[in-house]
Amino acid sequence: KKPVIAIDGYSSTGKSSISKIIAQKLGIIHLDTGALYRGVTWFALQNCLNDDGSINLQSLFSSFDEIELEFKNDNGELVLFLNHIDISKAIRTNEVSENVSFVAKQKEVRDFLLQSQRSLAEKGGIIMDGRDIGTVVLPNADYKFFLTASIDERTKRRYQELISLGIESNERQVKENLIIRDKIDSEREIAPLKQADDAIVIDNTSISKEETIESILSYIKN
Ligand code: C5P
Repeated sequence: KKPVIAIDGYSSTGKSSISKIIAQKLGIIHLDTGALYRGVTWFALQNCLNDDGSINLQSLFSSFDEIELEFKNDNGELVLFLNHIDISKAIRTNEVSENVSFVAKQKEVRDFLLQSQRSLAEKGGIIMDGRDIGTVVLPNADYKFFLTASIDERTKRRYQELISLGIESNERQVKENLIIRDKIDSEREIAPLKQADDAIVIDNTSISKEETIESILSYIKN
């Protein structure tokens, strides 16, 4: 049976891009679970706002049955569609980044997204990256990794990523957003960001993406 791999860690430690390449090398599928929380946040920003522009949680919670999530397998990469719309670019905006941790700390939201994540792993052969994969979503994963890196290195990486997506931003704004999200994600009551007791911790501040990938692969038995 192909392995189930959990990758958790702080924002912009390279979890998703690293997981994507590992999935290709091992011939398994990859799910970026952050995209699910970003997708629900994007939906809320479109459909569930108070008059002052803030997200109305009650309205969001009562809209869950209007949210249809589908994953399309694009060469092993699970691409998220929400109500048949490819939202992969729309969920990367600053507006979504600024609201996602508030949405993701709600128990109702986490409950809504839990089962679809778990069922994707039932047959094995998946690498899932997020914040609570090794601790809550897939506590029995075959391998668990926890990625970390310095805030300045992570800021640089996220800033570059936004530039490559054509999203306007600046380093100060990016850094603030990473700090705030890590704080909300680590301090929330339900499924906080933390390393699983049995996770292998990799600090990749001063190693390249390729070296991080090599390091992870060195633990995985074929
Ligand atoms: O991975 P990414 O940075 O896109 O995740 C966006 C946000 O989604 C995180 O800051 C966190 O609030 C939430 N998230 C989560 N649990 C996960 C994945 C993401 O709460 N498993």
